[in-house]
Amino acid sequence: MPYELPKLPYEYDSLEPHIDKETMQIHHDKHHQAYVDKLNKALESHEELQTKTIHELMTNVESISEEIKQAIINHGGGHINHSFFWEILSNNKPFNEDSEIGKEIINKFESFENFKEQFANASATVFGSGWAWLVLNENNELEILQTKNQISPISMGKTPLITIDIWEHAYYLKYQNKRPEYIEAFFNIINWEKVEELFSKAKQ
Ligand code: MN
Repeated sequence: MPYELPKLPYEYDSLEPHIDKETMQIHHDKHHQAYVDKLNKALESHEELQTKTIHELMTNVESISEEIKQAIINHGGGHINHSFFWEILSNNKPFNEDSEIGKEIINKFESFENFKEQFANASATVFGSGWAWLVLNENNELEILQTKNQISPISMGKTPLITIDIWEHAYYLKYQNKRPEYIEAFFNIINWEKVEELFSKAKQ
């Protein structure tokens, strides 16, 4: 089994009340696990790919044979996107306008409120299932974008800094059809220390 489900870097109830314990348990233990299992299954007959890290696999998705490419995009994407999502969440790492990422966000979007509005809008308007992202793009600039299903910006040559899962399984138990309330709550649980670390690494 080349790929394994990573442990959450906090307890299931750590993001309460913004994301509830039961959603975290099902989301991590069932949904994320299923992506890992299906990815491993897809790779059973492709030994040459089993030694790659998930990052190597997803950056080179275009070079993968047609026969399993879509399975890698779906399940490899599901694995890398969820692993990333868990890492950028925390209940007590607030936005700091004096951090490097804080200054860059204000420089690019003019104010934190503008950034928040644009990111929330990108999140709210994902049609169907997908993700909204803040990335450092190929020109080394901050960019907000959406991806469908489990497509990862890593496969597009971009470096993820923040993401929100917009699949209904990410919020339906607590928020039902109220996606905007889930998005509003999400801003309380971004791990801005982690985002700063990712931004510093990406800028090097
Ligand atoms: Mn999900």
